[in-house]
Order: sequence, then structure tokens, then C-alpha cells
Amino acid sequence: MAEPVTPEKKTDKGRVSAPPNGVRVLIIEDEPALVDALTYNLRREGYEVSSAANGENGLLLALHTIPDIILLDIMLPGINGQEILRELRATEKTRAVPVIILSARSEEIDQVVGFSLGADDYVTKPFSFKVLLQRIKALHRRSDLPADTAAEVVHHGPVRLDLVRHKAFVSGNEMILTPTEFRLLECLVTKPGRAFSRLDLMENAIGEGAIVLERTIDVHVKTLRKKLGDMDLIETVRGVGYRFKE
Ligand code: CA
Repeated sequence: MAEPVTPEKKTDKGRVSAPPNGVRVLIIEDEPALVDALTYNLRREGYEVSSAANGENGLLLALHTIPDIILLDIMLPGINGQEILRELRATEKTRAVPVIILSARSEEIDQVVGFSLGADDYVTKPFSFKVLLQRIKALHRRSDLPADTAAEVVHHGPVRLDLVRHKAFVSGNEMILTPTEFRLLECLVTKPGRAFSRLDLMENAIGEGAIVLERTIDVHVKTLRKKLGDMDLIETVRGVGYRFKE
């Protein structure tokens, strides 16, 4: 575990810190004040925190420490956040690490770009720590699940999901899915033919309590469909949401 770039702040008197929760968060962000505040608040919640102030160090830390969750700024000196994300998703060891993008740019197009590159969630600066914490918890709960379940493989039609190794296959070919896409597909494939509302899917795939737009599900479904190929396996149910082809 590399040492954080920024010094730890002293804990306020009278404020009780949560016990260590064993969850390692890597912050890749070049605003020192934001890194300081996040580091301080996350440690108080029991997280192990490391940070990098530029793209190169961030990528190196991510690849060497394999954190449990990454908070990634987009506008960074050197390698930018989008390139980092692409690299993380192309690398076996970091493929399944949940990534939350921190960005000052709020246009929806940025969200779409982020999700299609494999981000799991997105917060727009300035954001409240409470909101970020909620999203971290939701993502971590999800990425934790496969390791806790007994050896299990879900399959329907050409799709096969290995829940323990967190691998997905279509017609025998491995698909490179983000953690959120994996959850989404798992939810749909487990009950083929059942129509899920966007809300159902958000709760199952993004995590309860996560504050996301319903439109977010559409973006994830779009990227998932592309990865599944031209088989129309995920059907749109008008006025409801989506279902997996029976
Ligand atoms: Ca920045």
C-alpha cells in the first residue's frame, strides 16, 4: 500500500471515527483541498485511503495496489481520467474495480462517455460527501457480493455468467463488462422473460439508495447490448423497462 500524497488531518475532538472496514479507496485527483477533505472524511468512516495527484501516479497506484474502489477525476495533468479508465478496464487485474468519476463537467454527454468507457457511477463537483459516501457504499456492496456467494453459474441462451470469478460469456466468448453491467446482466438473465422497471434495475444493479437518473440505466443497457452483439437479447418493454429474451 503506497503512502497517501497528502498528510492526514488531525481528528476533531469529540468526533468518533468508525473502525477500519478494510475497504481501500484510491483517489486520483489533482485538487489538493478536495483530496484532503475526501481523505479525512473517508478515513473517519473507516476506509483505507491512498491518493495520487496526477494520471501517471494514479494509474501506477491502481495497477500495483488493486484498490476496492477508485474515485477518478477527469481533468488531470498528464494522463487524463478517461484514458486511465480505458486502461483500467483493459487490464485483467483492475477490470472489475468499481470506478466513480468525479467531474466538474455536468453535461450528459460526459456521463455517456464515462459509462461507455466503463465507469460505474458519476458525481458532479461540487458534491456532498454524504452523497459520495452513499454511492461508494452501494458500489462496494455490489462488488462484494460474488465473493460471498457459493460457486454459482447463471446461464440462459448464449449467455453464461460465472458469479464467483465475475466473468461473463456470450456464445462462449468472454465479454469485458463493468461491475455495473455485470450486475445488470445478472439481474436480467436470472429471470428471463420478466420485465424489470428501470427502478428495479437501478436497485439491483446500482444499489439501493444510490442517487442516479433513470436515464443512467438506459446508458448501461446500451453499452451492454453492444457487448452482447446483434442478438437482441435485452428487449425493451415499452412503458416499463427491459427484459431478457426468453
Ligand atoms: Ca482536476
